[in-house]
Amino acid sequence: MPLDVVFYGTRGSISAPHEDILRYGSLTSCVVIKSGDRSVVIDAGFGIGFYSDHLANKMGNFHVLISHFHWDHIQGLNYFGPVHHPKSTNNFYSPFKVEQLQEVMDIYFDGSYGPFNGWEALNSKFEFHKLTGDIKINGFTVSMIPLNHTDPCYAYKISDGNSSVVYASDHEAINNQVNRDFIDWAKGCDILIHDAMYEDNEYEHKIGWGHSTFDMACENARKIEAKKLLLTHHEPLRSDKDLDRIESELKKKYPGLDLVCAQQVITYSS
Ligand SMILES: [Zn+2]
Ligand SMILES: [Zn+2]
Repeated sequence: MPLDVVFYGTRGSISAPHEDILRYGSLTSCVVIKSGDRSVVIDAGFGIGFYSDHLANKMGNFHVLISHFHWDHIQGLNYFGPVHHPKSTNNFYSPFKVEQLQEVMDIYFDGSYGPFNGWEALNSKFEFHKLTGDIKINGFTVSMIPLNHTDPCYAYKISDGNSSVVYASDHEAINNQVNRDFIDWAKGCDILIHDAMYEDNEYEHKIGWGHSTFDMACENARKIEAKKLLLTHHEPLRSDKDLDRIESELKKKYPGLDLVCAQQVITYSS
C-alpha cells in the first residue's frame, strides 16, 4: 500500500487568505501522512483545523507530531476538532521534553487567546510523548533529526516498511554539518517534503532566517535521491501564478527531479 501525503496547511509564517493564493493554500503548516485508514499528522498550524473539518469522525486516537513551537506550527491547536471531543485521545509527540510540550499547551490554552480554562479542562484526553529514537506510532516507524533553523526544529521520517516520507519544514539548507547529516539521514526516501520559502533574490535579505530557497531544496533532493519532492512552507504572499511559474522553471532546471510545489488537499502518493 502506498504512503499518501495530503497538505492542509502549506503556508509559512502567517495564513494569507487572498483569492489568488487559494489553490496552493492559504493556511499555515499541517500535513497528514496516511496508509489506508491509519494516519499521523505533522504540525498544527491553522491547516489542522481545516483537516479536522474533513474528518468524518472526530473521536478516536489521533497522533500529532510537532516539528517545533513556532506559532505557524501550533496556532491551530484549538481548531482541531478532536481536542474538544470527549471520546478522543490526542497524542502529541516531539523530541522536546514532555514538560516543554505541556508548557506550550499551558500557554496556548491558558485563557489569554480564547475562552479556555487550560488544556486539562477540555473534553478530550491529552497524552504527551517525548521521541527519543525510532518509535512506532500508529503502525508507522517514525524517526527524527535536527534541522538548521533559528530555534530547535526537527525533521521527521515516516515509514511503513515499504515507503518513506521525510518532512523537513523550516530548514535553511546551507552547506553545514546539520544539513550534511540531514542529507545522509534522509537518503533514498520516496517523498521529500522540503522548505522552499524564498526565491534567490528574496533570500539575499533573509540569510539566517532558517528557511531555504527553491534551489537549496532541489539540490538537497538531488543529493538525497528522493523519488519525489514536494516544496512547501510557501512565502505568505506568493500567488498561485508565481508558484506555477516557479514550478515550471524548476522542472526545466532539474529535469531529473519529480517535483511540485505542494497544493492543499491534493493527495501525493509514494
Ligand atoms: Zn514555519
Ligand atoms: Zn519556524
